[in-house]
Amino acid sequence: MKVSRRDFLRYCGLSATALGLTKTDLFAIDSLLASSNAPAVLWIQGSSCCGDSISLLNRIAATVPKTVDELLLGPIDLIFHPNLMGPSGDEAVAAVRSLKNYILVIEGGVPTAYNGMACTVWTENDVDVTFGDAIRSLAPGASQIICVGQCACFGGIPASGGNPTKIVSVPSYLAMPTINIAGCPPHPDWMIGTIAQLLAGKTVPLDKYGRPTEFFGRTVHSRCPLRETEGVETYGVRNRCLKELGCRGPETYCNCPDMKWNNGVSWCVEAGGPCIGCTSPTFPSQTSFHHS
Ligand code: SF4
Ligand code: SF4
Repeated sequence: MKVSRRDFLRYCGLSATALGLTKTDLFAIDSLLASSNAPAVLWIQGSSCCGDSISLLNRIAATVPKTVDELLLGPIDLIFHPNLMGPSGDEAVAAVRSLKNYILVIEGGVPTAYNGMACTVWTENDVDVTFGDAIRSLAPGASQIICVGQCACFGGIPASGGNPTKIVSVPSYLAMPTINIAGCPPHPDWMIGTIAQLLAGKTVPLDKYGRPTEFFGRTVHSRCPLRETEGVETYGVRNRCLKELGCRGPETYCNCPDMKWNNGVSWCVEAGGPCIGCTSPTFPSQTSFHHS
């Protein structure tokens, strides 16, 4: 289903506060979408489980636009996404190479061993193009580079453990400034909100790890409703602080307690599990899944 500009603005209007947008921003988005100057969005995947794309697709609303693909294939002009786009093969690659005005969204870490051949993204002139070479060729022309998910932002699970393909994060591989939407996976509205803010022409304030402070400016603990409750030392007891079970909320930055997951239904601690710190630059670490 094609989503109109009005639908998109209504969506942004409904979620404006959560997405970090003001009425002026909505007007700016409206003006941009009405012109031919709106950047396309190019989404490319490397070494990851596609969980960030799946998180994005899990955004479902009661009113139009009901699903995020309606948004991304309509007003946001998602020109390339390996899982969502219609074209394939040479046609898809040609669409990428013809882009002049685009936001580059990168999901996944970059394998550097074996000349990067552990992850190839397409064939061009009969040559397999590695993920590393693809993002290196596309990054300089992008108006903004957004890393989505731990793997792109910090290396994440693919770069942990033995790491036989020597995966590194996108910022360290490109040595260029990036906006880092952390999380394993990130909340869909962190991704949509950041893209919407860029469409509005806003400068997105970032913390020292490149994460938008709008979404990553406070600790999970600072907004957790269980702060004043007595801790528990065993699972299965609801509505009590999980610090003794290794909750990383005090040192983890994001707004999960406010935004919640699954379209506002719940979040990790509310569901009875400790925060494992999945937006932290050090996630996953040896202690991520253990009591401290
Ligand atoms: S459950 Fe975690 S985030 Fe919530 S108050 Fe306890 S330590 Fe903080
Ligand atoms: S509460 Fe913690 S583990 Fe859960 S999604 Fe948020 S940052 Fe990740």
